[in-house]
Amino acid sequence: MKAIINIKIYDYKSYIDNGYIKFNSEITEIGDMESFSGAEEVVDGRGCILMPGMTNCHTHIYSAFARGMNIPFNPKNFTDILEQLWWKLDKQLDQTAAYYSAMSYGIDCIKSGVTSIIDHHASGLCIEGVLDTLNDAVSKSLGMRSIYCFETSDRFPLEECIRENIRFRGNGSEHTGSMFGMHASMSLSSDSLKRISESIGDMPVHIHVAESIDDVRDCYQSYNKSIVERLDSYGLLNKNSILAHCVHINEEEAALIAERCCYVAINPTSNMNNAVGLPNYDLLRGYGLRCLLGNDGLGSNITRDYLNLMFAMKNRLGSPNKFSMEDLVQVIRNGYEFISASLNIKLGKIEAGYKADFIVVPYDSPTPINEENILGHIVFGVFDSFKPKHVWISGKQMVKDYKLVFEVESEMEAARHEASKVWRRLN
Ligand SMILES: [Zn+2]
Repeated sequence: MKAIINIKIYDYKSYIDNGYIKFNSEITEIGDMESFSGAEEVVDGRGCILMPGMTNCHTHIYSAFARGMNIPFNPKNFTDILEQLWWKLDKQLDQTAAYYSAMSYGIDCIKSGVTSIIDHHASGLCIEGVLDTLNDAVSKSLGMRSIYCFETSDRFPLEECIRENIRFRGNGSEHTGSMFGMHASMSLSSDSLKRISESIGDMPVHIHVAESIDDVRDCYQSYNKSIVERLDSYGLLNKNSILAHCVHINEEEAALIAERCCYVAINPTSNMNNAVGLPNYDLLRGYGLRCLLGNDGLGSNITRDYLNLMFAMKNRLGSPNKFSMEDLVQVIRNGYEFISASLNIKLGKIEAGYKADFIVVPYDSPTPINEENILGHIVFGVFDSFKPKHVWISGKQMVKDYKLVFEVESEMEAARHEASKVWRRLN
């Protein structure tokens, strides 16, 4: 049995000022230091806060290989961003590139305290078996938790995409989950949606919805309906599907998403970076939609996105009161709820019976900390200057004193080598 002692413990619900935690792969006991009775292996957490490992609920692992890429880029709209950047990159990814982008992205995530991700993958040179490749890197080698899917679209051989999503479904474990991936309405014809709907049964889908106005216009012009109505007309809005972005949905679409028990993954940092607008949180909240937070593959430190979500929504809704720290906590909790249900485990609380996925972050406060104000310290102090000192997943220490406990230099070197090969192919 391992223990961390003399530490502040916070899980977005309860706060212990000077406590301990005992764990193996699951948390077995927590309490105040007065009741600590010893353990075989003890880490002193003085000066730090222990919190659940972070989640990123919509990301693209392959985007790791876009960093520093130098290609002609002069987008006038969102479609140009896809055509000039993302579709050029994903088209040239083969199996080795997928593996090393996943390795390097996973390494960055763990160092940033992100222990669970929901990925949306595309790779033009390798479809069959690629989700196993990602799973080998992220879940099996690095020990993270991840939910995978392949972005089915008319850009790739349709049947191959469908087969890969369905084949991978059998690989569930407490580290690996699956969904049925689709790129977006604007890259899927009527025939394609029909084929998908015949194939997926009750698999939840993971798809970009109304990220930009381009997707919305395409749908009205070609099919004379909204995107959510279009997907629903093919019976694709299975329970617990993730509709990413939903920047430009209307009231009827919000109502339908709620009725079908789907989640909305919002990605405000990515939306601002692409200048596509921001989702209307009042609308989402008004219909009781469960929102998750993703970063759309834009880096790995999700606390930046936690903060950006709060700032962006206050600005979007025109009031400093329209998006509170409690709203932020609700979105964070929804992420744990979704991933816990998908992987059939308990994540997101520091309580006995929950998986031992947690981070230890140094925090030296200029003001007193107590049960009433801890959330303010987390948001404006811890999230603002976020660098976990230790990270555990399933009770296994992954980061110790800011360093990964396993050797990664050769993996990162291989990633740089593979990225340069991909860049040469696309130039
Ligand atoms: Zn995305």
